[in-house]
Amino acid sequence: MNTTIDIQIKQTSQSKLPGTNFENLSFGQVMSDHMFVADYKNGEWQNFSIEPYAPLALNPANATLHYGQSVFEGLKAYKNENDEVLIFRADANQRRLNESAERMCIPPVPEEIFMEGLAKLLEVDRNWIPSNPGCSLYIRPFIFATDDYLGIRPSLTYKFMIFTCPVGHYYAKPVSVKVETKYTRAAEGGTGQAKAAGNYAGSLYPAQIAQKQGYDQLLWTDGKSHENIEESGTMNVMFIIEDTLITAPTSKGTILKGITRDSVLTLAKEKGLKVDERFLKVSELKEALETGKLQEAFGTGTAATIAHIYKINVGDTDFELPEKPKDAFSYQVLETLDAIKYGRIEDQHGWITKV
Ligand SMILES: *Cc1c(COP(=O)(O)O)cnc(C)c1O
Repeated sequence: MNTTIDIQIKQTSQSKLPGTNFENLSFGQVMSDHMFVADYKNGEWQNFSIEPYAPLALNPANATLHYGQSVFEGLKAYKNENDEVLIFRADANQRRLNESAERMCIPPVPEEIFMEGLAKLLEVDRNWIPSNPGCSLYIRPFIFATDDYLGIRPSLTYKFMIFTCPVGHYYAKPVSVKVETKYTRAAEGGTGQAKAAGNYAGSLYPAQIAQKQGYDQLLWTDGKSHENIEESGTMNVMFIIEDTLITAPTSKGTILKGITRDSVLTLAKEKGLKVDERFLKVSELKEALETGKLQEAFGTGTAATIAHIYKINVGDTDFELPEKPKDAFSYQVLETLDAIKYGRIEDQHGWITKV
């Protein structure tokens, strides 16, 4: 790749690779050796570097710590059979990072800084990308305010960083979910569409209540009427009822525009499944569960790709979903997506970048 930005590289003298057990990786606990860092000051991004992964020095008055002016992304890189490195839909993550940034008054990161910083980081930490089946490298780009100032206004300085974690085979264990009709994740006019740090802090308390009741995750409903299903935990959620795939539309700004969501919808249409982007009412979901019309329910997101839902709590009732046939859509689409990501089938959508 031709580079247009100048990146200073400081390699670690103490790689953590020899001490890392790639057979037993849990999500987000082991970080690779290096990180990419850029600073925003005087109105532009500058000081591009790759340096050893290490703690940051922050001022106690750091604006992010107090007011949460911070956005992030999540994507993955894979190795194919020829040991080449493939990134899945990085361009879409780069665009979404800047959409989130705009909502939070954070300056956008130009495409070349994102892509060249990422490509260089993957080159330096190439040996951290697992090649065992089902494993991948999770990539976490993020931007946060760095002004040392207690006033509430957009910061004048920021850091853009990327670090990575090797992640193991995500045995997407089926999950149980509870329809949440008291607390709200996102409201129209709010920040639900942005991958903004504070959204996740606000979701912890209601999720914790559900977990104490024995459910893995929430099925969020809209903030106004609590009648419409929006998302599940930090995943988009899809239902198949009477051979139609139903998922919430992103037009109201309350749904995170998942890249897995978009990929699954694209493949569903190609596989000839009817797709209906509309809000599913809680009452409709309940009826579909009672009458056995709900065939499949699953979450979609980068970490798990597809998380099958086996139990849904609506009001006072727990409903177990029927056992899925081997050729269920959610199994098929997971297999197709994995085959594209690991380069086992041709990428017909321009989703893969080789670095
Ligand atoms: C990140 C995220 C998703 C999934 O997005 P992907 O691009 O598929 O990983 C869905 N919902 C929320 C709230 C998210 O933060």
